[in-house]
Amino acid sequence: PKMNVARLLLDSARDYPNREALDFLGRSYSYKELLRLCTKLANALKSQIGISKGERLAIMLPNCPQAVIAYYAGLMAGAVIVMTNPIYTERELRYQLADSGATTLIALDLLVPRALKAREGTSIKRIIVTSLSDGLPFPQNKLYPLKRRREHPGLKIKYKASEGILRWSAVMRQGKAEPICEEIESDRDLAMLQYTGGTTGQPKGVMLTHANLLANTKQISAWFHRLEQAKEKFLAALPLFHVFGLTVLLNLAIFKAGSMLLVPRFDPRMVLQTIRRRKPTVFPGAPTMYIALLNSPLAREGDFGSVRVCVSGAAPLPREVQERFEQQSGGRLIEGYGMTEASPVTHCNPVWGFRKSGTIGIPLPDTEARIVGPDSLDPLPLGEIGELAVRGPQVMAGYWNRPEETDAVLRDGWLRTGDLGSMDDDGFFSIMDRKKDIILAGGYNVYPREVEEALFEHPAVKEASVIGVPDDYRGETVKAYIVLKEGWQVSEMQLDRWCRDRLAAFKVPKRYEFRDSLPLTIIGKVLKRKLKEDA
Ligand code: ATP
Ligand code: MG
Repeated sequence: PKMNVARLLLDSARDYPNREALDFLGRSYSYKELLRLCTKLANALKSQIGISKGERLAIMLPNCPQAVIAYYAGLMAGAVIVMTNPIYTERELRYQLADSGATTLIALDLLVPRALKAREGTSIKRIIVTSLSDGLPFPQNKLYPLKRRREHPGLKIKYKASEGILRWSAVMRQGKAEPICEEIESDRDLAMLQYTGGTTGQPKGVMLTHANLLANTKQISAWFHRLEQAKEKFLAALPLFHVFGLTVLLNLAIFKAGSMLLVPRFDPRMVLQTIRRRKPTVFPGAPTMYIALLNSPLAREGDFGSVRVCVSGAAPLPREVQERFEQQSGGRLIEGYGMTEASPVTHCNPVWGFRKSGTIGIPLPDTEARIVGPDSLDPLPLGEIGELAVRGPQVMAGYWNRPEETDAVLRDGWLRTGDLGSMDDDGFFSIMDRKKDIILAGGYNVYPREVEEALFEHPAVKEASVIGVPDDYRGETVKAYIVLKEGWQVSEMQLDRWCRDRLAAFKVPKRYEFRDSLPLTIIGKVLKRKLKEDA
């Protein structure tokens, strides 16, 4: 079958040309205008720059119109998109550019000095440079967080075509406005090399085909069946360069012909301003985002009143956060589950029907899921804890240039997720933890998540993360890292008593450490790898 992911945009622009597609800090783009910009860039990439089908195009941008334009333009031109994280250090960026073999990078001006250093030893032939004000009507927009040049007086970029440093606006000018959409063999041709979160180690490049991404967009759309075509407003606070934002925001919003309210980075003040100004109806997020918003001193009564659907993923959603957010919004906040290797969503709780808090819900349409043991893909007896395996049209083609790692997780279409969980009588799945995070304390398995849930219930606790640390006597022992809510105080002894009332003795943390904040990945997952190193 031939179907390019960029068709999502072409179709919505054909059916709803004048509907708003994007809002960036007050500047609005219609579908017609968005498509025109994508078409021009796609033509420029193909004809002037000479990108051929399958060539890798890296994008290093925060949430802004150019990120959306570059993404669909690249797909229209037949390129394979490599999203990189704008806060990557030089080393991290070089690894990803070299590993993916990208030849072109589209980057924000502020990131160019870093990109230039990272470029050495990679196949990057050119960098197309854009600035946030390229997407804004006036550079001094009140809401614009960085007062550009003044705050970055040292930033001088030498634009030289011979050295491959190109200006976004110049490239755009060259591109023709003729329709373009590269023919794609959707089951085989890659749309993206999307890198994993890097929570447990070096990020791996995941090969996602056009069919993978389209399948997941449609599966989620079916799940959110009450969302209306050309009516919804999506709050885009999740980064679009992460697979969660990419599918559940970007592709979904464009498929539904909705408007995407782009927030350049997660900052509670900016998010709340966008919410008050534009009243979004859909707000996908990570648990840490909801926690930050609920606890923000800037949040006012009624702020979340327009929101009908929130879906939380990427990490466990504490029950207490779910309840409080639903009280304040009147909408539904449901938990789902996914991973980069599955484009990403495989499970979700029903939005309007029967759901179970604390579970990841049931498999999406067309998705099979099982709990399996270490040696075979046969399902374990109901209720037993094992590894979650999934199969469906959203499952990756494999890891890029890592055949052994691919073979270790992918067999007969089944993907081993590396997460331990179980399924109950009703077919709802629960994730206990990653295989790698289980603590073995004195011969007992301790699932950090269960301990974290108990700690989260304490009124003074804002964030909690539990890891195993080496212990001479028990092998490993349970250690809890705690961030307290502002103005609260609590002692180790009080927390100890709290946990003893709720958990078997072997699960109760033996050590506590209080911190002002926890190390997080960009999507807001606690970097346990970092905590373990510290310990
Ligand atoms: P890496 O694979 O590089 O170590 P990562 O696994 O964090 O990084 P992602 O693909 O972004 O990279 O994240 C997928 C993982 O996130 C899942 O395997 C699972 O451990 C976790 N996860 C996602 N949703 C949930 C959820 N609702 N509850 C618990 N864990 C979740
Ligand atoms: Mg992973």
